[in-house]
Amino acid sequence: MTPLEELRHSASHILATAILRIFPDAKLDIGPPTDTGFYYDIDLDHKLTADDLVKIEAEMKKVADENQPFLRKEVSREEAIEIIQSRGQERYKLGRLADIPEGEKISFYQNGEFMDLCAGTHVRYSSKLKAFKLLSIAGAYHRGDEKNKQLQRIYGTAFPTKEELAQYLERQEQAKARDHRKLGKELKLFHIDEDVGQGLILWTPNGSIIRQELQDFIGGELRKQGYSQVFTPHIGKLELYKTSGHFPYYKESQFSPVIENESLAKVLKENCSCAEVFARLDAVSSHLASQVNARTGKETITADRVKPDDQLLDGFMLKPMNCPHHIKIFASQPHSYRDLPVRLAEFGTVYRWEQSGELNGMTRVRGFTQDDAHLFCTEEQVAAEVLGCLSLVKIVLATLGMADYRVRVGLRDPDSNKYTGEAANWDKAEAACRAAAQTLGVPFTEEPGEAAFYGPKIDFVVKDVIGREWQLGTVQVDYNLPVRFDLSYIGADNQPHRPVMIHRAPFGSMERFCGVLIEHFGGDFPAWLAPEQVRLVPISDKVNDYSRALLAKLRAENIRATLDEHSDKLGAKIRRAELDKVPYTLVIGQKEAEANSVSVRSRARGDEGVITADAYLAKLKSEIATRALPEKKKE
Ligand SMILES: [Zn+2]
Ligand SMILES: [Zn+2]
Repeated sequence: MTPLEELRHSASHILATAILRIFPDAKLDIGPPTDTGFYYDIDLDHKLTADDLVKIEAEMKKVADENQPFLRKEVSREEAIEIIQSRGQERYKLGRLADIPEGEKISFYQNGEFMDLCAGTHVRYSSKLKAFKLLSIAGAYHRGDEKNKQLQRIYGTAFPTKEELAQYLERQEQAKARDHRKLGKELKLFHIDEDVGQGLILWTPNGSIIRQELQDFIGGELRKQGYSQVFTPHIGKLELYKTSGHFPYYKESQFSPVIENESLAKVLKENCSCAEVFARLDAVSSHLASQVNARTGKETITADRVKPDDQLLDGFMLKPMNCPHHIKIFASQPHSYRDLPVRLAEFGTVYRWEQSGELNGMTRVRGFTQDDAHLFCTEEQVAAEVLGCLSLVKIVLATLGMADYRVRVGLRDPDSNKYTGEAANWDKAEAACRAAAQTLGVPFTEEPGEAAFYGPKIDFVVKDVIGREWQLGTVQVDYNLPVRFDLSYIGADNQPHRPVMIHRAPFGSMERFCGVLIEHFGGDFPAWLAPEQVRLVPISDKVNDYSRALLAKLRAENIRATLDEHSDKLGAKIRRAELDKVPYTLVIGQKEAEANSVSVRSRARGDEGVITADAYLAKLKSEIATRALPEKKKE
């Protein structure tokens, strides 16, 4: 254990000590350290409350102050059973004892009156615990198995100093306030509806603006870098993914093939309108048919009335990856070495079957749109193309104020043979990634075993303003798919050669990236991203005409502005704009109307005084065009 883990694990012993003092009937299970603290699982008839946590924490302080030494005692299996029985802790501890293989040492650790079966290690004295806090109670099944009894898990954290603990707690509070699920609701950015399905993001108008602005920004940078935009469908034939190797590799996380029925395939092939698809879906399922008929009153078209189409009998699936579609676009034309690299970009939506327990707001979803692109290049171009991908990331992250990031270079696990492709090609690809990462000028680590099955990769991990790390997207070199799809280009020697492919989705998905951005900005988006950029707040009805004219003028200049014509007081209107986190509130009174001016309140910088409407508009337009970050008021 690291010293910090040792400290936190010792805190869990002290937690158990305190629990048994207050609840002598409690049956203990286990109490390991975690990445952020520690917990102890206990079985107790009394349902613990927040008040209980306060009491337990106070008792823990006493135990710590008693300066109890942690004493190790090695025992035989028989002695261990006796100790456990004498303490009435047979229910879980005997099972935990049985987990220890024969021949391995069995040890207990004692502090004060408490003794726990444990391999260690611990701090030497309980007084080492100077900064700890109990945080929450959750249910946890014994051994994580739903068939077992649900225990009460008490979470806590501990740090070497009070300052570090205070910092951690402060950061937790900030994180809570920034939670994208909370802000997403308050600012009406996205919605998840049970009837549509868990993990499927419905982008509401406000969130859609943010996504569109981001896509326009990233798309613009891609054009500068010589990418070509493509569009491809949401499904593909199962066979295609067998060729690519995504099936069965991703079988566990894929939606099952959507269309195995020729009639539905025909419906889709004929590209009919939604209404027709619905009316004809009843050919597929009688259950659906009765529902559709009940609603539409239309006649059922049965499967035998739709002619089977041999071409479409294989089954289709929702695409888990965009690569095969892009490969087919590349392969649709002959290429000379002079055409390379070919860079095909698409904000491509893919679907993966995540377990419902793993879904989380926008950051873990079942359908998402990758900022995807596939580059087809020569061996010699790989290093430069990887570098190009990284420079794009640099520009985008800098614009969003996420300058603090690191990269991880995922390499092969030298002891595994799960990888496809030749070793010599792998060596080259790994060297190219390493070299590109080195030139980036940010910290990077090499991580053996973290490569994809088809090639090495570079991952981006950004740190947000409150210091949390977020894994974003990847750049992956791929020597495998060009072989599987038998891709080629004609070289300078007039002979066919195999191109190398690079997959890249540096920001991962629009869903995840927007989720991260909501938390990064805490909902306070820079003007260019803000769903509502300006709110006009007239002081009285008398200035309505001026306010409406100004609104029209702003909108004509493509500014997202609204006018608050509610009859409530000025203070209430300003508060509402604050709650909606609108970057600029323009207060308009008689004086402003007469002078063709506005009184500007910036969310980032506070009151900015009165300026002419034209001067304000010019300033705002430049702020948006340069995608400026909100500049905090100078002290
Ligand atoms: Zn221990
Ligand atoms: Zn790909």
